[in-house]
Amino acid sequence: AIVVAGAVGALSEIMGELARAAGATERLFDLLSIQADIQAPADPLPLPVPPQGAVSFERVSFHYPSRPDWAALEDFTLDVKPGETVALVGPSGAGKSTVFQLLLRFYDPQAGLVRLDGVDVRRADPRDVRARLGLVPQDPVIFSADAMENIRYGRPDATDAEVREAARAAHALDFLEALPEGLHTFLGEKGVRLSGGQRQRVAIARAILRNPPVLLLDEATSALDAESERLVQQALEELMRDRTTLIIAHRLATVVNADRIVVMEQGRVVASGTHAELVRQEGLYARLAALQFDRSAAE
Ligand code: ATP
Repeated sequence: AIVVAGAVGALSEIMGELARAAGATERLFDLLSIQADIQAPADPLPLPVPPQGAVSFERVSFHYPSRPDWAALEDFTLDVKPGETVALVGPSGAGKSTVFQLLLRFYDPQAGLVRLDGVDVRRADPRDVRARLGLVPQDPVIFSADAMENIRYGRPDATDAEVREAARAAHALDFLEALPEGLHTFLGEKGVRLSGGQRQRVAIARAILRNPPVLLLDEATSALDAESERLVQQALEELMRDRTTLIIAHRLATVVNADRIVVMEQGRVVASGTHAELVRQEGLYARLAALQFDRSAAE
């Protein structure tokens, strides 16, 4: 799973999602030292306007700085068309989160090219790149602030009406309005604690407000109750509509609905296709699908 830890400045750029700062101090320091290596070019190339939402990885090989002898991605190629939904699947450690980290430009690959809207991300300003990417992490952070502010984090200049509309689209408005002080209820450690499904819907509302052309979705592995599952799924469908989406997928319903599934193993693409195509091939995907996906979700 991707743990988003980063300098506070980088955070609002990325997503309206904050580091699990308290619990992830190590990773935070990791990342801060790494970010010092990521240079903005002196004369950055502008990304095309309007944004297209095209993502491509071209023969990318990458190892983490702490593990120079071990490739997290090897000769990894992926072309995502504007508006396409691509699900990344594969065993733990296959490199799925690493794909997100390179696109967010937390690291640069040792070989190959990562492009956003046709531009090599190393030649663009990282802030421009991150402004086009929206991340919904597995276990979203809820800040010590009221519900309104928690959602507004997705886009600080949003009006109250826009925040409410995003909450509605994310299927979060009903439960938020039912809180003691509605959208002004204080959330987080010292306030009302939300369930996993509710936290996910708050994160989805943030992303809807942010409206990025490219969405990076790290699907929750934790089981939700059926009602919560249904609402989260509907909220995600709303969020994914009309934008490019890359999903680290754990649910059968997600892979069945994806335009394309990319199966990864040891940093490489080992198969790709639709769910039906891949199941017929009786390879790693068929075994993963049998083991890993929650079958009841799609049947
Ligand atoms: P999971 O489904 O468990 O989240 P994944 O497919 O997303 O797995 P990655 O998180 O991309 O896999 O990790 C790929 C490999 O890189 C793993 O072996 C992991 O241990 C290693 N790795 C991930 N982050 C780092 C890091 N910051 N430093 C060193 N190695 C790392």
